[in-house]
Amino acid sequence: MGKSNDIASQDSAKIYLSSPHMSDEGYEQAYIKEAFDTNWIAPLGANVNGFENELSSKVGAKCAAALSAGTAAIHLALKAVGVGEGDIVFCPSLTFSATANPIVYQNATPVFIDSDEETWNMSPAALDKAFQKYEGRVKAVLVVHLYGLSADLDKIVELCDKYNVPLIEDAAESLGTLYKGKYTGTFGKYGIFSFNGNKIITTSGGGMLVANDEKDAEERIAKVRFWATQARDAARWYQHSELGYNYRMSNIVAGIGRGQLRVLDARVQKKKHIFEFYKRELGQLDGIKMMPVNDWNEPNYWLSCITLNGKVKPLDVMIALESENIESRPIWKPMHLQPFYSECNFISQCESGSVSEEIFKSGVCLPSDTKMTDEDLYRVVNIIKKLWR
Ligand SMILES: *Cc1c(COP(=O)(O)O)cnc(C)c1O
Repeated sequence: MGKSNDIASQDSAKIYLSSPHMSDEGYEQAYIKEAFDTNWIAPLGANVNGFENELSSKVGAKCAAALSAGTAAIHLALKAVGVGEGDIVFCPSLTFSATANPIVYQNATPVFIDSDEETWNMSPAALDKAFQKYEGRVKAVLVVHLYGLSADLDKIVELCDKYNVPLIEDAAESLGTLYKGKYTGTFGKYGIFSFNGNKIITTSGGGMLVANDEKDAEERIAKVRFWATQARDAARWYQHSELGYNYRMSNIVAGIGRGQLRVLDARVQKKKHIFEFYKRELGQLDGIKMMPVNDWNEPNYWLSCITLNGKVKPLDVMIALESENIESRPIWKPMHLQPFYSECNFISQCESGSVSEEIFKSGVCLPSDTKMTDEDLYRVVNIIKKLWR
């Protein structure tokens, strides 16, 4: 233990939850070399444009802005739909804090929505309740596709249309996930993706904001790029009429992204193989349930997650794996249980308890690293199976 932060090299014997996996073909380095050869180290350059266009056409978005992080993309999406001081934004409780934090950056207030068991994501029933409770004060709905499982988008889009509130999709974990044949991130007015080190593809760190509805898409994305580059007005000197941010992606980082995008489909295939392997080997054990994969959901299987409701507890699994130098993790701790957000309201699906809390208490994220061999996978499942003897 204690070696996971080794800066010289990653621990080769360790099995990771999800670590960077560059292409065997060296695509990333070729794009970076091109940037070096043309001295487009900074600012912007061909890789940034290329990455924006290639990602947009991959997922079927109108246009995109490459940014320094997924969190920055969420922030600017909220700004773009006009979220500001005193507004309410609905967001799921069961997510990573980076979904909710930008709501606070904009001096708005999050109201946390419970999950449902069918998707683990925002419960349409709880969302409907929340709309009724806060009618007229809601400026945006921020939906998340957790672990690569898509939310119940038809119902959520219908509710947002009914109450005339824009939808933003936090697809940080779901690049490559299809909902009824269409990529997640393209259902909302805006969608965001993350290329953080643990995501299905990575640029070492980065994000993308995509605009979907046709109306003024190019103009709206141009505005996002403007905010992301310090909001510099068109003047000879530095002149600013608006608050700016330093949120743009660099041309080097975008080169890694272009290379990674070329292996996205292969990564999804491998992640699916990992999930199917666990399902076959562990799915029948007493008390285990695999994360929900619905008929309409073609996930990217970013992380393979299970819940345990029998004699073997999540902590038993995590400790057994840890002692063999294998990484696993609890499910995200819901936002309404976080000290920082303890004052915020939470709308649960039903009166008797919360689904998100149940998933948190019983869930484990299993190692889902695409560099794992089948031999590694057998090692993992054998350690887990021993707990049932
Ligand atoms: C990773 C992640 C983010 C943040 O992305 P960064 O690129 O790390 O800023 C936001 N939301 C969810 C659900 C994530 O998993």
